[in-house]
Amino acid sequence: MSEAAKNLIFAVDLGGTHLRAATVDCRGKIHFRAKQSTPHGTDPNEIVAAIVHAVDEYRADSGVESDELKAVSVVVPGTVNVAEGTVVKAPNLPCLDGFPLAAALTNELDLPAILENDANAAAVGEMWQGAARGCRTIICVTLGTGVGGGIILDGELWRGVDGAAAEIGHMCVDPFGGVACTCGSRGCLEVFASATAIVRMTREARPRYPDSVLHASSDLTAESIFEAGLQGDELALEIFRRMGVYLGIGLANLINILNPEMIVIGGGVVNGWDLFEKHMLHEVEERAFPLLAARVKIERAKCGDDAGLLGAARLAAM
Ligand SMILES: [Zn+2]
Repeated sequence: MSEAAKNLIFAVDLGGTHLRAATVDCRGKIHFRAKQSTPHGTDPNEIVAAIVHAVDEYRADSGVESDELKAVSVVVPGTVNVAEGTVVKAPNLPCLDGFPLAAALTNELDLPAILENDANAAAVGEMWQGAARGCRTIICVTLGTGVGGGIILDGELWRGVDGAAAEIGHMCVDPFGGVACTCGSRGCLEVFASATAIVRMTREARPRYPDSVLHASSDLTAESIFEAGLQGDELALEIFRRMGVYLGIGLANLINILNPEMIVIGGGVVNGWDLFEKHMLHEVEERAFPLLAARVKIERAKCGDDAGLLGAARLAAM
């Protein structure tokens, strides 16, 4: 048995759709993986049971003694109280609101357990094993169904006093746009740069582009719009231009406030990078202080779907 294998973290990424789990060693190597649907009942113990089931699967699969696992670390899609190990609010898994998930897991598994917000964990994962290796002050932006953020300042996650910091998706980038956001505000970055936003903006602009191939598509997705853009569809190109402009405005604000070494951009929408990159960078150049804009590297995330799992493992091992 290798030395590394004695200190495995059981990392769990509790997504709104899937619960993904992996054992991660101290070098960031993933050994075992499991995936199941996330329970959507009203009883938080169903989620506890699902995580216990994943641990049981690992133990059955590896045939090793349970003492190889050092801790359980769970990534939650919402606000968590890290010190208490409770979920404060998880909009997609409301049964967890107020639930002491870490204590429940420790009780069932006899292992230390910690929780972390998903975007924060992704930032830690990218700094440990991904695009931002070797950096100490980074911002991680996740462009998915919504827009998430994680901020690491001088090597430490910036969680804020209530664990709710780095809501980059809810920075206002357009006070006159009038587009309502799920958070209750208007003109947030999320309503212009998420996958949901790309589909909405395409639907809204479609009547002005009668020749677009996207008229034929009843099931628009950010991916299908990106594919159309690659083929030169003018509607798709315009949507990714707008998305890039709004994203660049948001990043310029962050650069001027935090002077980061690197901004890492991940999430499904990053597939459209080739279509939005130049518009994003143009806004950064136009708006951020020249010294800061020249310093910061803006890169695509490298850990993909594993960023949260890796970050969770890193946080548990520290
Ligand atoms: Zn918002």
